[in-house]
Amino acid sequence: MIFQDPMTSLNPVYTVGRQIAEAVQIHTKASRSVAMAKAEEMLRLVRIADPERRVNNYPHEMSGGMRQLAMIAMALACSPELLIADEPTTALDVTIQAQILRLIVDLKERTGTAVMFITHDLGVVAETCQRVIVMYAGRIVEQANVIDLFARPAHPYTQGLMRSVPDRRRGRQRRLPEIPGIVPSLREPIVGCSFAPRCPVAIDICRDKTPALRDVGSSHAAACWRAEEVMGA
Ligand code: SF4
Repeated sequence: MIFQDPMTSLNPVYTVGRQIAEAVQIHTKASRSVAMAKAEEMLRLVRIADPERRVNNYPHEMSGGMRQLAMIAMALACSPELLIADEPTTALDVTIQAQILRLIVDLKERTGTAVMFITHDLGVVAETCQRVIVMYAGRIVEQANVIDLFARPAHPYTQGLMRSVPDRRRGRQRRLPEIPGIVPSLREPIVGCSFAPRCPVAIDICRDKTPALRDVGSSHAAACWRAEEVMGA
């Protein structure tokens, strides 16, 4: 797993190499010297310059982007079948973000590891994902392949997310449309559709009955009573 904040995910009192090697030793029972060699190899794989020196750096001796690359190296060190990347680029500036996203996609193709991105950034979704699951209040509200999702979003929450992204094709915008209200508290049971208090097209049934996730196209499903109308809008 790659966590979102590389500064708090790395232990400040151990070198980066030792932390990567620790994962290798625990999972593969390799000796310390073999694990350290693997750590250096992993830093090279994620394209950190001068890996022979960097392997002995402490986290504070690296930039934020480099620390995140080290986290990716650590996550991939034991050749996982699935890599979970939880907002892996939010703490980084946009240039480093683009570099890290390209690297993750490239490594996915080279190593055969499947990648699950957890993100609020629809730009990241559009650029890196094939299949998308949109969640709201802890439940799946829509799932589709990335082309269908962006071409014909079937849930008002997905549409709201898309409208609230700046689009240069729309020219100068004074204010981005927002989704009014806040996410409901999950401490209380939710009756009906959890998005109803914020939904611009809610009707009576939405407040009484929870819509189940159902097919609205081939490989496209949504949990909305009005999904077909929403898609056609
Ligand atoms: S079920 Fe109703 S309230 Fe929920 S998203 Fe669909 S239209 Fe809106």
